[in-house]
Amino acid sequence: MSGVLDLVRPDLRDFAGYASARRACASGTIWLNANESPWPNSGDATGSAHRYPEPQPAALRKALAALYGVSPEQLLVGRGSDEAIDLLVRALCRPGRDAVLITPPVFGMYAVAARLQGASLIEVPLQDAAAGFECDVERVASQVLAQSVRVVFLCSPANPTGQLITLPQIATLLTQLRGHAVVVVDEAYLEYSAQASAACLLAEHDNLAVLRTLSKAHGLAAARIGVVLTSPALVAVLRNCQAPYPVPAPCAALVMQALTESALAQTAERVECIVQERERLFHALRELPSVRWVYPSQANFLLVRFVDASAAFSQLLAAGIVVRDMRAQAGLHDALRISIGNPEENAQVISILRGRSV
Ligand SMILES: *Cc1c(COP(=O)(O)O)cnc(C)c1O
Repeated sequence: MSGVLDLVRPDLRDFAGYASARRACASGTIWLNANESPWPNSGDATGSAHRYPEPQPAALRKALAALYGVSPEQLLVGRGSDEAIDLLVRALCRPGRDAVLITPPVFGMYAVAARLQGASLIEVPLQDAAAGFECDVERVASQVLAQSVRVVFLCSPANPTGQLITLPQIATLLTQLRGHAVVVVDEAYLEYSAQASAACLLAEHDNLAVLRTLSKAHGLAAARIGVVLTSPALVAVLRNCQAPYPVPAPCAALVMQALTESALAQTAERVECIVQERERLFHALRELPSVRWVYPSQANFLLVRFVDASAAFSQLLAAGIVVRDMRAQAGLHDALRISIGNPEENAQVISILRGRSV
């Protein structure tokens, strides 16, 4: 059966990566194979950081696989989704020959990874429809088939525009693009929506990769842990392209703590709070005369068009509130993106934009 491995760069198909000390290890009691110090550092409370970590910590991989509903072989742990984006582009795109497809306005890292790899960028802009932005999936398919696109990045819920792509739309695209391109569904904000993960399509589509992160809903942006969920064959290829020890032990430990039952329960409560606040802020902003339009959002931010975006940005900044200026992005010349904060923070945003009656 020909499969997703046919899409991997031919020059990397038999590439085994770096043979690290931890990779080949059997059981031992005296470790003299990696030039580590035999003593821990006096500042190391765990007393264990003098040894290189497991490249893919088994307990962490198992816990994350359970969280995301896949098997451990379908999951690669990396330094945030950012690393997964980079690995996918590097493993699949021949420099100077293959292309990456994106649907702007969208998260900037896809274009950065393409540029660094020397892959060209094909853009299929989102359509700004009455109900919000929409991805033109038919045009995505036709563009992939017409050009040498190896990686398609779909963001769902999308940053900065907030909309979802439905699972039937994704499934259709995966079938159309089988043997042509890997479809990457970036679900960095999925926790804030009611939609199921595209990971449920993995059993039938080996050209699918799903990105999840601990950086948003789980509140661990500084730990730099994210995962790619894809076919075991592609996981193995990506692993060979990755750094020898990509998961720092303190970060793995932090994530394990965040995956306990009580921590997950608190995360779920906070997600619920953000969703309620998002709806409250959405309606409050829509009432303001200085606001031209607020897009519905399935994520933890709102994309807002202002009559005078520059003035709104400065007004918020003068009150110490920093939001994301989106005006340089195509089609968003009057827009700011506002992350949903805690209830007090959101109340301040509204009162400043109303004319500072705090
Ligand atoms: C924030 C974000 C991520 C998360 O990146 P990490 O490297 O995991 O922190 C991924 N994709 C999108 C679209 C994002 O907005």
